[in-house]
Order: sequence, then C-alpha cells, then structure tokens
Amino acid sequence: MTTLTDKVLLITGGASGIGRATVRRCAEKGARVVVADLNLAGAQSVADEVAAAGGTAHAVAVDVSDFAAVEQAVQSAVDAFGQLDGIFNNAGIAGGKPLLDHDPARDYHPMIRVDQDGVYYGILAAARQFVKQGGGGVIVNTSSIYGEQAAELSFTYSAAKAAVISFTRSAAYELAEHGTRVLAITPGRANTAIIQQFPQHLRELFASEQLRNKMTEPEEIANVVAFLFSEESNAMNGTVVNVDDGYSVF
Ligand code: NAD
Repeated sequence: MTTLTDKVLLITGGASGIGRATVRRCAEKGARVVVADLNLAGAQSVADEVAAAGGTAHAVAVDVSDFAAVEQAVQSAVDAFGQLDGIFNNAGIAGGKPLLDHDPARDYHPMIRVDQDGVYYGILAAARQFVKQGGGGVIVNTSSIYGEQAAELSFTYSAAKAAVISFTRSAAYELAEHGTRVLAITPGRANTAIIQQFPQHLRELFASEQLRNKMTEPEEIANVVAFLFSEESNAMNGTVVNVDDGYSVF
C-alpha cells in the first residue's frame, strides 16, 4: 500500500478541488502537509479537516504568481516541519476568450503569471530547498489535456499548460543529478469549481467526452498524485501521466 509516512508535502491550490482532495489523501497516507492557497480561509478549513481526521496539516497564504511568496511558502514548510520532501504545483485558473477578442493585459499575462510562472517558481523554490537538504525530493506539476492539444477558448491556458509539460521534462533532466524526480499530471475534465462555472449543457458535454461518461472525481486524481509522491513510483521521472478518463484516446 502506498505510504507517505512523515513526508513533508507543500500543495498549492490546496483549498479546493484537486488540491484539496490531494491534501486529504496524502495526509491519510501519513504525510505532513502544507496547504497553500490564495484563499487562506479555504486552506485553513482544509487543514482543519485533516486535523479532525487525525492527520497533520498547516495552512499558509500564497500567491503563486509571486516568487518571493512561493519561496516563503517553502520556508513555512521547513519552519513547521523541519524539511520539504515534495511540492505539488497545482494552483491554477481557467477560462478564456476567442483569440481575436484578446486584450493581452486581460486575457494573456494574468493567466500566464499564475498557470505558467507559478509552476516555474514552485519548481525553482522547491529544488533549491531539496539541494540545501542534500538532494532528493519529488515535484508534481498539474498540466492538462489542453497542454497537449488545442481547444476552444483555451489559447492562453493551453500555452501555459504546454509550458508545464516542458518544465517537467527539462527539470527532470536537470535535477536528476540531485536525486529529484519531476512529474506532471494531465487531467481531462475533473469535477471541481473550475468546471462547475460552466453551464449545465457544457458540463454534460464534457462528461460525455470521457470514456466512463462522467467527469473524473478529484479524489481519483489525488490517488494518482499520492502514488507519484511515493517511493512506489521511483522508476518514473519526467513522466506526464494522463488522468483524463480516456478523453485523449479519440
Ligand atoms: P479549483 O478552482 O477547485 O482549485 C484551484 C485552486 O487554486 C483554488 O483553491 C484557488 O484559490 C487556487 N488558486 C488560484 N490562483 C491562485 C494563486 N495565484 N495562488 C495560489 N492559489 C491560487 O480547480 P481545480 O480543478 O482543482 O484546479 C487545480 C488544477 O487542475 C489547476 O491547475 C487546473 O488548471 C488543473 N486542471 C483542472 C481540470 C478540471 O477539469 N478541473 C482539468 C485539467 C487541469
């Protein structure tokens, strides 16, 4: 059985959806978790859920688009638990406009700062901490099926998520000499707040595009992420793991 006993994990976007489910699952498996999110009240409430279930979690506020804030979140993990063993660079925003309607200041730069720069900052800050500790560590990044294909209204989102796949492979290559593994997941349509903002008919369409005719539950993705953080996945590095319920077979 996958165990994460005593591992210290920092999970961004931990207040909601895939991040929240991953905080809970990793804590169940023995990890001590730093729940990091723009929404501090939400992060605290997830940390409280973990504590009520007998686990260990600590909430911090972070804006992943701010490198100094991400470095501070890494330092918070070290201050709270003495070390860092893994980071899940998962915080993200979605949405978009047709390309011809773009205002770069509104429709490009803000999303790139969160979905792309935020992952880069997380990789860099965590990797520096791992090296300081003598090496090791696992980095898991949340990309998307849209990082590998074009989709309606996803020009900026797809670009950022493609960069996340590239960061994953390049960082795995560069950090291997320090014993650090770097992995990415590509969810399809997961049943979280990002998707719940779409109208009912679109949510039904999204579900019908996956092979179980349903959206993926965040807990199902969390199971995969917990495995990636565990030593059972030691043979995987630079790997992009599809957790898309078969969406990409078409
Ligand atoms: P969600 O909205 O439930 O959770 C996202 C979390 O990120 C929220 O708690 C939010 O407060 C936080 N966040 C947003 N901006 C932030 C910032 N600047 N700094 C720190 N935290 C910030 O959505 P989710 O579906 O769980 O999304 C998690 C990740 O999964 C995202 O990267 C998203 O792009 C990706 N993803 C989701 C789907 C899906 O279908 N839900 C599919 C593919 C990829």
